[in-house]
Amino acid sequence: MQKKIEVFKTIETLRAGVKQVKSKGLRLGLVPTMGFLHEGHLSLVELAQQHSDQVFVSIFVNPAQFNDRGDLERYPVDIPKDIERLAERGVAAVFNPTPEMIYGPHFQSWVTVSELADTWEGADRPGHFKGVATVVSILFNLLQPDVAVFGEKDFQQLRIIERMVVDLKFGIDIVRGPLIREQDGLAMSSRNTFLTSEQRATALAINQGLYRAREAFDKGEREAKRLVALALEQLEGEAHVKIHYMSVVDEEMLQEVDQAQDSGTRILAAVEVGGIRLIDNISLVA
Ligand code: AMP
Repeated sequence: MQKKIEVFKTIETLRAGVKQVKSKGLRLGLVPTMGFLHEGHLSLVELAQQHSDQVFVSIFVNPAQFNDRGDLERYPVDIPKDIERLAERGVAAVFNPTPEMIYGPHFQSWVTVSELADTWEGADRPGHFKGVATVVSILFNLLQPDVAVFGEKDFQQLRIIERMVVDLKFGIDIVRGPLIREQDGLAMSSRNTFLTSEQRATALAINQGLYRAREAFDKGEREAKRLVALALEQLEGEAHVKIHYMSVVDEEMLQEVDQAQDSGTRILAAVEVGGIRLIDNISLVA
């Protein structure tokens, strides 16, 4: 039988709900999302459940992290279906605020994480991570979770949150959720819904390239240039494809390296297919 799920649409009801969990001495887990949930999100819910007693999921399409208005307006939404799926998975509550509740009149207080947020997605999407760090800080303040789960799909975002939690002493455990893929290997993303079947087939070259690079790494290749060249081989020359970056980076500060190490190195990729920005990454561990 489906369990009852609470849906908080105001800050006051949310605070009361959080208080109730805390008063019972239960450990609260948070999974922040922008909704249009897929199995990648649900895997984070499951992880959160393993690390806490009650899981709250926030669904908020955060305008502050969109530098492109069209992208924000197009972002897919299906709140009733999301709630149904979360209820089926035993989530205790959903927090679904409006932008006005999160960003009150004359909002001025932004959280910026330097360096880590200036490269890759941050370089291509100015202000994006300022929006992310700010909304996550607000959610942390509102929900006071003991643990929060973020996906490795957005590896740079994950590192920024981890950095911020340490630097600003939030005292929240951050759990990393592995990147979940479709059966054919494409990284699951709410944005995949925009791909035509032809674009989707093209997009597979991203994950195939990453896996090819990892195979080479497994066989001993450490030269970043060669790993990247292998990862890009299938993508280059494809029509309607724009490669934003494909880079071998250290996992701590996400700086580009010339040589992959036996551990602690990752390939980050952002590729536009038919105007849809897709990101993916793969960890290199010997
Ligand atoms: P979003 O709704 O895109 O803001 O994502 C919410 C959370 O789900 C973030 O922590 C993402 O990293 C995570 N996430 C999104 N897609 C995946 C995926 N394919 N595998 C694992 N986590 C994911």
